[in-house]
Amino acid sequence: MTATLVDNLAQLVTHDPERPIITNAALVMQNGLVSWVGEAADAPAADDRIDGGGRAGIPGFVDSHSHLMFAGDRADEFEARMAGQPYAAGGIRRTVRLTREASDEQLLANATRLIAEMRAQGTTTVEIKSGYGLTIDDEVRALRLARQLTDETTFLGAHVVPEGVSHEEYVDLVCGEMLEACAPYAKWIDVFCETGAFTVDESRRILTAGIDAGLGARVHAGQLGESDGVRLAVELGAASVDHCTYLSSADVDALAGGSTVATLLPGVEFSTRHPYPDARRLVDAGVTVALASDCNPGSSYTSSVPLCIALAVREMGLTPYEALRAATLGGAAALRRDDIGRLTVGARADIVLLDAPTYVHLAYRPGVPLVHRVL
Ligand SMILES: [Zn+2]
Repeated sequence: MTATLVDNLAQLVTHDPERPIITNAALVMQNGLVSWVGEAADAPAADDRIDGGGRAGIPGFVDSHSHLMFAGDRADEFEARMAGQPYAAGGIRRTVRLTREASDEQLLANATRLIAEMRAQGTTTVEIKSGYGLTIDDEVRALRLARQLTDETTFLGAHVVPEGVSHEEYVDLVCGEMLEACAPYAKWIDVFCETGAFTVDESRRILTAGIDAGLGARVHAGQLGESDGVRLAVELGAASVDHCTYLSSADVDALAGGSTVATLLPGVEFSTRHPYPDARRLVDAGVTVALASDCNPGSSYTSSVPLCIALAVREMGLTPYEALRAATLGGAAALRRDDIGRLTVGARADIVLLDAPTYVHLAYRPGVPLVHRVL
């Protein structure tokens, strides 16, 4: 087993509660895992060495919310929105049509391209949802292809009701045959609990069916207005409730008292001109917060977690460290993982070297490509 020393790091962010940030640091990795962290002066001998070049090292980003299995582009909708038209959930149906028409090769190539973009910006773990198929065969296909790219696959048959199917009929399908066919390829089940998509009662039914089929629960809620979907997520023990742009005090209390992570997706507010969620309020209440891209062709076509970090600091009240933590440790919590999102002994050695002496530059130098190398 070869041990590789990464040294000459001006700063290393570990997220170890005892020592979350080490200056003049080094790290040893072995077999893909972190085997030692500390000050460079104390580093043990190793077989190979990577010179950190005086850079900052951080854990790779954990992007816990994306919709990469799609075809097509909706730049015209974005342009219309920026000219004053409101965002509505219906645009999803357009991507559904284009996704159904695409070949497996086209879908895989598009998702692979986006993952390469993510990787170049420091993301080392990505969750991928289905939800642009909305028939049994198309949803199974999306998850089967997504499985080739990540272990974190999410069945989102309940994205919207497709054209030509009644609401009741479709919910029955999602909870029944579609779930049964998709479950072998999915780790999670998700619901778009929102006006124009699925009601709280329907969401409860769908999530409960998924949990009974052995999947973990995640929920889209609070994107367009306050909804009981946030409390439903906490009540069902969902790993994460995503968006949380609009929250009542009761929602914040419920999140603070439960184990559900609040995943904030500021790329959506950026791309829809909605107000940003108040991350400060959540952190102050003791809620675990994650930041993710929500990369999708409609409401947030960014693959950039650094952009989300910059927005969270500038617009959502987080400090630079809290935003970095949300995009790494928070994302890991949203996927119920403790082997990623941190650089402590035993964790996966997913390390990002920044062309910067400190992680603060992620928000301090927005829009600048700061990722030097991903290990
Ligand atoms: Zn989403």
